[in-house]
Amino acid sequence: MEKKDTMALVDKGLLLPLMEEFYTIQGEGFHKGTAAYFIRVGGCDVGCHWCDVKESWNAETHPPTDIELIVENAAKYSDTIVVTGGEPLTWDMGPLTDRLKGRNLKTHIETSGAYPLTGDWDWICLSPKKNKLPVGRIYNEAHELKVIVYNKHDLIFAEEQAALTNKDCILYLQPEWSVRDKVTPMIVDYVMKNPKWKVSLQTHKYLNIP
Ligand code: SF4
Repeated sequence: MEKKDTMALVDKGLLLPLMEEFYTIQGEGFHKGTAAYFIRVGGCDVGCHWCDVKESWNAETHPPTDIELIVENAAKYSDTIVVTGGEPLTWDMGPLTDRLKGRNLKTHIETSGAYPLTGDWDWICLSPKKNKLPVGRIYNEAHELKVIVYNKHDLIFAEEQAALTNKDCILYLQPEWSVRDKVTPMIVDYVMKNPKWKVSLQTHKYLNIP
């Protein structure tokens, strides 16, 4: 297929730059401990300096993959599918979630919200980033807000973001992994003083699983 034809299908969300896919345990947030199939889509220009999946950033290094194939694989493993990245909303998620829903699979997304929300989701984890703030209606749609805490200022950012979310949105503070020893005590103290927040830990990293 010529590159322009491939790009046209990527633009339509019929091909997605697939970085990796794997069956594991959701380690973070509300669904932690739940077995789920992860689809990691390449492409992200948010540029978090502490990002632990920088290999995902350049979409061109990940093969444009037919979403029918992605769904076929996912359906073999789990009824809960987590789409992550990268920033999955770089792409039109409508066709992928239509097909996942067509197989009666539960659709979860982990997103910074930096691009308009597309797709039909059973669970939206919004993890906003300071350098490219969420856009559009995602604050109204998010089921959980997960703010990654790298330093003390991130707690102020967390409150600013929480003020924008809907009333049912569950609020999480999660230590950034590389500074977890430093920031976890600060988060624990903050959550005890501000119990509308909960602590989210990257339990999959403690379990040494993907
Ligand atoms: S939004 Fe996510 S994938 Fe993109 S740079 Fe930030 S942490 Fe990395």
